[in-house]
Formats: sequence, C-alpha cells, structure tokens
Amino acid sequence: QFDLLVIGGGPAGAAAAVYAARKGIRTGVVAERFGGQVLDTMSIENFISVQETEGPKLVTALEQHVKQYDVDIMNLQRAEALSLDENGISQIRLASGATLKSKSVIIATGARWREMNVPGEKEYRGRGVAYCPHCDGPLFKGKRVAVVGGGNSGVEAAIDLAGIVEHVTLLEFGAELRADAVLQKKLYSLPNVVVIKQAQTTEVLGDGQKVSGLQYTDRQSGESHQVDLAGIFVQIGLLPNTDWLKGTLGLSKHGEIEVDNRGQTSLPGVFAAGDVTTVPFKQIVIAMGDGAKASLGAFDHLMRS
Ligand code: FAD
Repeated sequence: QFDLLVIGGGPAGAAAAVYAARKGIRTGVVAERFGGQVLDTMSIENFISVQETEGPKLVTALEQHVKQYDVDIMNLQRAEALSLDENGISQIRLASGATLKSKSVIIATGARWREMNVPGEKEYRGRGVAYCPHCDGPLFKGKRVAVVGGGNSGVEAAIDLAGIVEHVTLLEFGAELRADAVLQKKLYSLPNVVVIKQAQTTEVLGDGQKVSGLQYTDRQSGESHQVDLAGIFVQIGLLPNTDWLKGTLGLSKHGEIEVDNRGQTSLPGVFAAGDVTTVPFKQIVIAMGDGAKASLGAFDHLMRS
C-alpha cells in the first residue's frame, strides 16, 4: 500500500512525486506514457531558467529527477477506475487488471488538444501546425497565421497573436463566433485580423518541410478557398483525460477535475494537479507548480488523518 499514488507522469505528476518522496513517504507513479504532452513538444522556450530545450530532453531530466528518490515508477500502465473503500483508502484499478491501494492520490492525467483531423495536420504538427499560442506564438513573428476556432480560446489566441505576427485569419465553422462579446469587440477592433465564418478547414498545405497554407470550404456556397500562411493555431478544444473518472468525483462542464486552492478534489484524500484540473492556463511551469502544491496538500492531509 502506498502513502501517495500519483496517476500521470507529465510535469505535474513528476513534480508531485518529487515533493512527496522528499517527505519520506511511500510514493508511486502510474503513467500511461511518462513525460506526457512534453514528449510531443519540439522546442520549449518558456520553461523559466532554461532558455531553450526540447520536449524529450526535458522528459529525460524529469525522469532522472524522480529516480533520484525512492519512487516506484509504473510506466505504460493505464488507470481505469478509482474508488474509496470503507476506510477511506483509494483503490486504483489498472488496465492490466491489477489494483493498487493508497492512502492518498494525486490525479495528474493531463489533457489533449482536439485535432481537426484533416490531411496535413499530423504531418506538419510542430512544423507550422501549433496548438498553444503562449508557447509557439513568437515563432511566427512577422508572419501570416490562421487560428481555427471562434470560441473563447480561438478569439483569445487571435488577439494575442495579432500583437506578434503580421496578420491573423480566424476561421469559424459556424455562422457566428462563440466567444464572449467583450473578446469579439476587441478582435474586430484589430486592423490585422480577418474573420471568416462558415469555414470548414479541409486541408493543411505544405511544401514538404513546413506549412504554406490551408484550404477551407465556404459552407454556404460550397466553394473551396486557399489561404497562404506560415502557421495554423488549432483552437477547437482541450480535452481533459477524465473519461475514466466520470461519476467518481466533481468535474466541471468541460470535464476538468474541480479542485480547491490546495488541489483537493471532491473526494477526501484525492487531489489533482495540472492540465486535467480547472486550473486556468495550461503550461509546463504552471503544471509543475500545481503538482508541487497538490503534493504538499496531500502530505498535509496524511498528517491529519
Ligand atoms: P500531461 O503532460 O498531459 O501528462 C499527463 C500524464 O498522464 C501522461 O504521463 C499520460 O500518459 C498520463 N495519463 C493520462 N491518462 C492516464 C491514465 N488513465 N492512467 C495513467 N496515466 C495516464 N507548455 C509550455 O509551458 N511550453 C511549451 O512550449 C509547450 N508546448 C506544447 C506543445 C505541444 C505540442 C503540446 C501538446 C503542449 C505544449 N505545452 C507547452 C503544454 C504542456 O505540455 C502542458 O501544459 C503540460 O504537459 C501539462 O502537464 P500535466 O502533467 O498536467 O499533463
């Protein structure tokens, strides 16, 4: 039986594990893929104190740091269900069939960007197709980009990028933008933004090396159009990895785990951290701070129970 079991091996889970292990408590990490989203990241330039690094390099450093301590890392293991027994001990069922028991749990299963699923998207991911304006916006300084998605995150991204890049084309699938009125007002006040509604992106175009444009269908006329671009920011939703927790603990309407300011969820002894939670702004430094916080929250809980 563990004192603290961390589910997820991204930046939030790794930070939680290091903080817990340093308290001398029996700590385990279950991860479907140790490293999480960071493994899929080419260049990272906003991990403070490290000017520039690559995702896989940062993951190696994370793993080495966790392995400095006596932490039981169970990689390539997927958690499928969580329940509390009559004594308040958490039971985590894994896809392998095994069940792990722990006095406290930190869920740090992260999130994934919803993809457009059009030809060229996967091929040019990290070579012009981007999902995070905070991360990759500066790479397109002085260039033309598109934002796909007219909800709050798409419109925020377009406003943000308009301050950095030469020109932004925002494509919305529906007849109207879905972002808050105040964001729309701001967007329409910007001279270097064009909004195209009823636009269904059909293909990411490239020159074999990087993105050169995109193709969309005007859903009203059925006509196909091409826009020349250097970058495409896909902003059609971030999906938290909480399918396995539905009905178990409190989730927001977007499926994110609701936490208080110590990372405590609606279940006693169960904490959560990082992109999987309602904590705003999904970033590596934020996820790490959040993992550390939830770990200290869990340790405090253990001291009192
Ligand atoms: P994740 O990194 O998503 O890790 C989740 C972990 O949980 C993984 O180990 C996963 O395998 C595991 N898991 C999921 N479900 C289960 C389950 N059921 N059972 C067991 N394990 C499970 N942020 C920046 O700050 N700077 C950047 O430059 C940057 N660039 C990015 C580029 C890309 C392409 C992407 C996708 C993201 C980028 N981000 C960047 C965002 C950053 O990667 C995330 O904010 C951060 O990784 C979140 O950490 P996390 O630990 O909460 O979740």
